[in-house]
Amino acid sequence: MKLVFLGPPGAGKGTQAKIVSERQKIPHISTGDIFRENMKKQTELGKKAAEYSNKGLLVPDDLTNKMVENRLNGNDCKRGFILDGYPRTIPQAEFLDSIMKIDKVINFELSDEEVVKRISGRRTCSKCGTAYHLLYMKPKKSGNCDKCNSPLVQREDEKPEVVKKRLEVYKKQTSPLIDYYKKKKLLVNISAFSTIEEITKKVELSLKR
Ligand SMILES: [Zn+2]
Repeated sequence: MKLVFLGPPGAGKGTQAKIVSERQKIPHISTGDIFRENMKKQTELGKKAAEYSNKGLLVPDDLTNKMVENRLNGNDCKRGFILDGYPRTIPQAEFLDSIMKIDKVINFELSDEEVVKRISGRRTCSKCGTAYHLLYMKPKKSGNCDKCNSPLVQREDEKPEVVKKRLEVYKKQTSPLIDYYKKKKLLVNISAFSTIEEITKKVELSLKR
């Protein structure tokens, strides 16, 4: 199964990719991992990509495409894979189509309100980095870490105003992709407003169709 996962921040796309990858025995491929891997190994592509990201610029599509293509040529991808964070643009989607046939595109849907609630509730320990959530994983003592008692902080990109901006960027980027895959009849919409187990069940059911 060659799969692409789409979804806004906070929809649990990465979590589902990890679970489904283990259950289906296909690799979970995120662009973040591909970038880090290429930079760590100092590949030519990695070095070029680093030049852009060090300047705070977006890595151009042709570099990203090439790195993804190399990764998808890996032996572990023969039975399939889950792409997470790629494609992000129509040219990337067209490139992907030119190198192989994707079986399904799973689009995790979540309301803006729920995205903001999920992300802006996150807190992190300022010392040991343990993650909490004000609604779903409350610390025993409000505002302090259970493990080391250090103050909990909210990351800048988890503040409601910033989350709303991230969502706008996501929608602007992703809505053309959703249309693109809908036209190709590959798109499966799955509500992410549910438990992790329920969502996995729905994903796996959709793979059998
Ligand atoms: Zn701590």
